[in-house]
Amino acid sequence: MAHQPSTIFRLTEVALSLDEGEALLPHKVAEYVQCRVADVQQWRIVRSSIDARRKGCVLRMYTVEFSLAEAQSLSQQAQQDRRLNVVTPQLAVAEVSLVTSAKTVVVVGMGPAGLFSALWLAKAGQRVILVERGQPVEQRVADVESFWQGGPLNENSNVQFGEGGAGTFSDGKLTTRVKNPLTVPILQTFVDFGAPEEILIQAKPHIGTNRLRHVLRNFRKQLQQLGVELRFDSCVTDIQRRDNSVESVTINDDEMIRCDVVILAIGHSARDTYALLEKKQFRLQAKPFALGVRVEHPTELINKIQYGIANHPRLPTAEYSLAYNDKETGRGIYSFCMCPGGHVVQSSSEAEGVVVNGMSNYKRDGEYSNSALVVAVRPEDFGDSSPLAGVRFQQHWEHQAFIAGGRSYQVPAQNMMDFLGKGTGGDINSSCRSGVSAAQLSETLPDFVVQGLQSALPLFERKMRGFVSREATLTGIESRTSAPVRIVRDSSGQAIDWLGVYPVGEGAGYAGKR
Ligand SMILES: Cc1cc2nc3c(=O)[nH]c(=O)nc-3n(C[C@H](O)[C@H](O)[C@H](O)COP(=O)(O)OP(=O)(O)OC[C@H]3O[C@@H](n4cnc5c(N)ncnc54)[C@H](O)[C@@H]3O)c2cc1C
Repeated sequence: MAHQPSTIFRLTEVALSLDEGEALLPHKVAEYVQCRVADVQQWRIVRSSIDARRKGCVLRMYTVEFSLAEAQSLSQQAQQDRRLNVVTPQLAVAEVSLVTSAKTVVVVGMGPAGLFSALWLAKAGQRVILVERGQPVEQRVADVESFWQGGPLNENSNVQFGEGGAGTFSDGKLTTRVKNPLTVPILQTFVDFGAPEEILIQAKPHIGTNRLRHVLRNFRKQLQQLGVELRFDSCVTDIQRRDNSVESVTINDDEMIRCDVVILAIGHSARDTYALLEKKQFRLQAKPFALGVRVEHPTELINKIQYGIANHPRLPTAEYSLAYNDKETGRGIYSFCMCPGGHVVQSSSEAEGVVVNGMSNYKRDGEYSNSALVVAVRPEDFGDSSPLAGVRFQQHWEHQAFIAGGRSYQVPAQNMMDFLGKGTGGDINSSCRSGVSAAQLSETLPDFVVQGLQSALPLFERKMRGFVSREATLTGIESRTSAPVRIVRDSSGQAIDWLGVYPVGEGAGYAGKR
């Protein structure tokens, strides 16, 4: 039989108990394919996840690639075996072809969408100017820390705005439901800039806020080396076109930059920029998003619910995902952006509005685990039919949260049982470093959101016994789940009647679509 050392196989669903180390994986492979352990060569883990369906018997699941000394018969087995496959070499994707035109591209926004656009364009040899209204990450962290300690809100340098975009103070979760060949090169880019290598194999990769800052500094250096002109403290305040083609942008109402292409990567919170686009007759549409609260439990409680044990050195801090579709109202109610062992963060970007979100450090070792609990909202809920009605709807409820929090940017908070009408004066325990203030969260949300959450919580309790608990605290409001408006693009990705303008990322309003 021919010796084929180069044939690589992939075996899925290789299970390890909590007592077994990863060194046992080649043994498990050998057992499955019925060969000697010594014949399992070049093995490597390509995927890892947790199977916690049976509490008290949690398994770590792996996909392992390997080659074998005797590959021929296994190739035949692989044709009939659901778990075993021959690995076909992937063609390189996202190779950039060099451009020869002398076009100037202005990329607006240094969130993930803007940073990656600038990187790929610069690698292709394009002249790129990358503009950001906020500050470099070092200054931005200082501004946010000062705000959280009671200092003034800087409306251009905060949790939403500045180098790295909205995710800089985040869990750095990199989960996506979109199957896209660019996923691997993007993860690899993060690793090249200092993210942990394991994100390449994890089913649910995450970087952690503390490590993201280091990644961002390396990203910046690489962009500078590629010749990208980086401009902080530079807000696009106007945009001009000639014969339907973009011609220039204005920075800080002062300086005009001529350009041939504009990548609009402004995120979902730049309300003044959305207003500018409306004024300049971009085609905008109100779109659904979700609104609700953030829920916090002690980390050990969630671990116990999910794993049956409070802690184990071989288990990551437990996550959860809950969803319920209310047949009567047709609204989805679901958990979102879970941050195991993380912190609730005050995420305002506008005066007199309070917004919450969540972040975690790489180790996810905080005392509390938090997640958004949100209810779907639709354009019909916004009160009028104009494109920016969803923005005003968000602003209204964020202002109610500001009032409920005592008009000092403290986050309004309430014990979960009190919110459910099952008591009063319950404990409020929160990881939110900027401080919380006892409040009635029903005053900070529309009735249908309050009712949606109140009807879903007992059902979530059935799925996760102990979730509805006096130990749980709710904070509000979670309103920046996704963009409330879409910048309509044509089939080439350009804004309608604005040739050369490409709305991208979260702020374009197409997130989750290709
Ligand atoms: C606290 C927090 C935690 C999060 N956690 C996660 C997570 O764990 N995983 C996850 O996938 N997502 C998370 N998100 C959501 C995620 O951050 C966003 O989906 C993502 O950042 C969107 O990327 P973007 O590049 O489209 O926009 P953004 O990241 O919002 O970046 C837009 C940038 O454009 C700049 N800008 C806006 N207008 C202008 C203008 N006129 N001129 C110049 N610059 C401008 C802004 O300052 C901003 O830096 C979190 C968000 C927050 C706030």
